[in-house]
Amino acid sequence: MALNVLDKLVNLYHENTISHVYLVETNNVLLCLNDLKKVIKQIFCVNKYEDNCTKCNICNLVDQNYLPSLIIIEPDGSTIKKEQILELKKSFSTVPVFTKENIYIIKNAEAMTQSSANTMLKFLEEPEDHIIGFFITSNLNNVIPTIRSRCEIIKAMYETHELNVESVNDEINQELLNLAAVYLEKLEVEKKDTIMYNRSILLGQINAREDVKKLFKIILIIYEEFFKNSLNLPNKCRNFDKFYFLNNLDSKELLKRINLITIFLDDITSNVNLELLLDKFVIDLGDLNE
Ligand SMILES: [Zn+2]
Repeated sequence: MALNVLDKLVNLYHENTISHVYLVETNNVLLCLNDLKKVIKQIFCVNKYEDNCTKCNICNLVDQNYLPSLIIIEPDGSTIKKEQILELKKSFSTVPVFTKENIYIIKNAEAMTQSSANTMLKFLEEPEDHIIGFFITSNLNNVIPTIRSRCEIIKAMYETHELNVESVNDEINQELLNLAAVYLEKLEVEKKDTIMYNRSILLGQINAREDVKKLFKIILIIYEEFFKNSLNLPNKCRNFDKFYFLNNLDSKELLKRINLITIFLDDITSNVNLELLLDKFVIDLGDLNE
């Protein structure tokens, strides 16, 4: 989980030592963007921020990408174009209204062309108060050097799960795949007495920590494939027709689940009691459904 690195930004902000612009290198651009949005929510939440705040206007607007003082720029086709940067400058030429600062996030910063970078430079060279910027990239070296040199560089690395879709579908894992289908259908469709399923379905059939870990890696891959599907990205959902019921979830709901399982997989490597960990997972998942 890379959140700890990014979490520090919240403290820096409150200590008034946050930089004007960061370049974040990550091995998972989508999770990183999601975590940055979480940082922004933590900073500007109207209430005392709690996980998945849905109570305040600011957090809701961030979630829906409707906060006027937050602009996220993604490549238009294969590049980030000069016009997109000009548009950003125009939007941020006025003082922010909803939040104290205007914030921009440039996703896939390596996709900036020389001319969009030049336009951006003027913006970076006259740092204004009330503007905080983030560039996200999967490879620092591919970001235009003049941009790179003006940013504070941080890294947000996420655990990678070596299991891939092909190996999920080989015979060895077929049994776990079936188990995952039964388990998730109970949790996502029936949704009642869920803690019971940990005992009756899961731990009744597997109890070795390593097997539970394997099962959850499979579950992670499945959610990731449905997540890609929800964004119309190439995906392997047709390999997982047993999990048809996940089509009911939107990309935001799927991303929350991906985060939850990533945390679970981090926790399971430490020596926490397995049953307690599973119960926590089921409860957290239930909270997402409320
Ligand atoms: Zn909030």
